Amino acid sequence: MLLLNEYVYSKIGNRAGGGTRYRCPNVNKGCKARAIVLDDGVILAANNEHNHEPLKYLKTNNGLYFRL
Ligand SMILES: [Zn+2]
Repeated sequence: MLLLNEYVYSKIGNRAGGGTRYRCPNVNKGCKARAIVLDDGVILAANNEHNHEPLKYLKTNNGLYFRL
C-alpha cells in the first residue's frame, strides 16, 4: 500500500525494469490514478487525478493502515 498526497494506492504488480506499480483502489468507480515507485523509493510517474475525495486512512506506528 502506498500513501501519496492523502490518497491510498494499492499495489498491482511489479514494473518491468524495476519498481512497483500501484493504482487507486477506486478504479472500479472510474478513477484512473496510478503511480510507479522505483525500488529506491523514488516515484517515477503518478497520475494523481482522482475523481473522488481522498479516503480517510490512519497509519499506525507499526506501518499498518486502517480505513476510518
Ligand atoms: Zn482515486
